[in-house]
Amino acid sequence: MTLKGIAVSPGIVIGKVFLLNSESFIIPRATIKKEEVFKEIERFKKVLGQTRQEIIALQEKLSREIGSKHSDIFNAHLLILDDPVLIEEITDKIKRRKFSAEYLFQQVIRNYEKAFSKIDDDYFKERISDIQDVGKRVLRNLLGGKKTNLANLKEEVVVVSYDLSPSDTALMHKEKVAGFATDIGGRTSHTAIMARSLEIPAVVGLEKITVKAKNDDLLIIDGDKGVVIINPRPEVIKKYRKRKAEDLKFTQELKKLRNLPAQTKDGFVMEMAANIELPEEIGSALKEGAQGVGLYRTEYFFLNRSVLPSEEEQYQAYKLVAQKMKPHPVVIRTLDLGGDKFLSHLDIPLEMNPFLGWRAIRFCLARPDVFKTQLKAILRASNFGQLKIMYPMISGIEEFKQANKILSQVQKELQKQNIPFDKNMEIGAMIEIPSAALTADILAKEADFFSIGTNDLIQYSLAVDRVNEKIAYLYEPNHPAILRLIKTVVEAARKEGIWVGMCGEMCSEPIFIPLLLGLGLTKFSVSPLMLSRIKKTIRSVSLKETKIWAKEILNLDKIKDIKHFSQTKFEEVPQ
Ligand code: PEP
Ligand code: MG
Repeated sequence: MTLKGIAVSPGIVIGKVFLLNSESFIIPRATIKKEEVFKEIERFKKVLGQTRQEIIALQEKLSREIGSKHSDIFNAHLLILDDPVLIEEITDKIKRRKFSAEYLFQQVIRNYEKAFSKIDDDYFKERISDIQDVGKRVLRNLLGGKKTNLANLKEEVVVVSYDLSPSDTALMHKEKVAGFATDIGGRTSHTAIMARSLEIPAVVGLEKITVKAKNDDLLIIDGDKGVVIINPRPEVIKKYRKRKAEDLKFTQELKKLRNLPAQTKDGFVMEMAANIELPEEIGSALKEGAQGVGLYRTEYFFLNRSVLPSEEEQYQAYKLVAQKMKPHPVVIRTLDLGGDKFLSHLDIPLEMNPFLGWRAIRFCLARPDVFKTQLKAILRASNFGQLKIMYPMISGIEEFKQANKILSQVQKELQKQNIPFDKNMEIGAMIEIPSAALTADILAKEADFFSIGTNDLIQYSLAVDRVNEKIAYLYEPNHPAILRLIKTVVEAARKEGIWVGMCGEMCSEPIFIPLLLGLGLTKFSVSPLMLSRIKKTIRSVSLKETKIWAKEILNLDKIKDIKHFSQTKFEEVPQ
């Protein structure tokens, strides 16, 4: 069976399926054999008893700590667990339909939720959360109590999941997770970006992979074409093995470019930096020939932990990156939490539109305690290399100035304490919100540099959620609006004499490189894995011809025509 999704991380993987159940418990329709029915009913009843014990223990603990008034809420949970109608319904379905207890239990719970939400009575509406709570407890126990930790896998697998959060992905080890495939997601989601950084082939937005694939199925993930094949025939496996070998050969060829400059045929040299999420990626960035870090997504340091990293911890991490990259520059982006990256312990409330919500610099300006700690750590580390600070999600000059005000407070505090730091550090803005792009002329008077974040710029300009696979077809870097915004930003920067680079995924795609060169960008920052590939394209064109092409493209009205133009030119130049 072949499923088509969105290719997010290149490479081909052939491996055994490992179905990952997230906290929202996406459970496949597992069937049981006729002779297993009795055992399955027993298992189900045992789990109900076990869950009952857990709730009683919790009730006792709460009663001791905060009084029985609060612990009484669990009486409703116990009533649900003891409900003979519910037990009867599930045992009956196990007998008749022969699905696993967890699959049936989840379905029945969902039906209860639906039925309760239709009753126009506050009492019943309030009971929905009780049902959900008990449902989760029972499911967790039916599934074996533990949520599988991606960091502790025993053998190499391909992970199949409804969704993966960026923090789930950050836990993956390449030796154990050979690839992953998910039901939902988009190409520029942080999960996708993380997969590329870790060099784990991946396809997302497959819609029903968690229903179609079973544990231990053989799966081919084609991260180049966005295709996943479940239990492929032997001749298909052979074909993919051959392609994998060819890929390897191409990668070996690319290695030759690692230490060559990203120089066009007429002598223009593009600065090529790496995007990193964790300090450990510095090794691969250097190996791939990066001339610095153009985007260090520091928020990854804050994920997967129960407390915020201290100033000292952050300082050590930033210092390490600064030292290892020296004499090349490192652009440290201040915390960009929110959107699709959350910390459970930071009290960031669930929002209807998290990408339009309390995210990045907005969060930092509201939480100067968190922001100042990070700025202090960066400033202290600036003594050990060439660091630059970049603020994410700047929407206009006010925010940029507010952030700078906090920065200068921190600088003063350090001066008072006689702690040295680089006083000439460049402070820049990410241009990833249309309002910032359209007022780039104003921002350019304050900022020392710009870095265009196309991942968000496209999502905000075209109103296309970057993680939603259903509207992924609208996520289009070739839209004339995007090209005009990039042009506006480059011209504003040039007028004020500041440098402008790009760190969004648009410059990781070879097809856009001639156009971006022609538009006048002077620095690209891409995942380490893509450095040589992008260099190859840069080395195959002349700046002069790309400028002519860019002019022609800017005169085109339709996405289709822009795509066609780029495609034709791209095919013309020997790669
Ligand atoms: C961007 O938005 O283009 C960007 C580089 O930042 P992030 O992907 O982390 O939002
Ligand atoms: Mg962004």
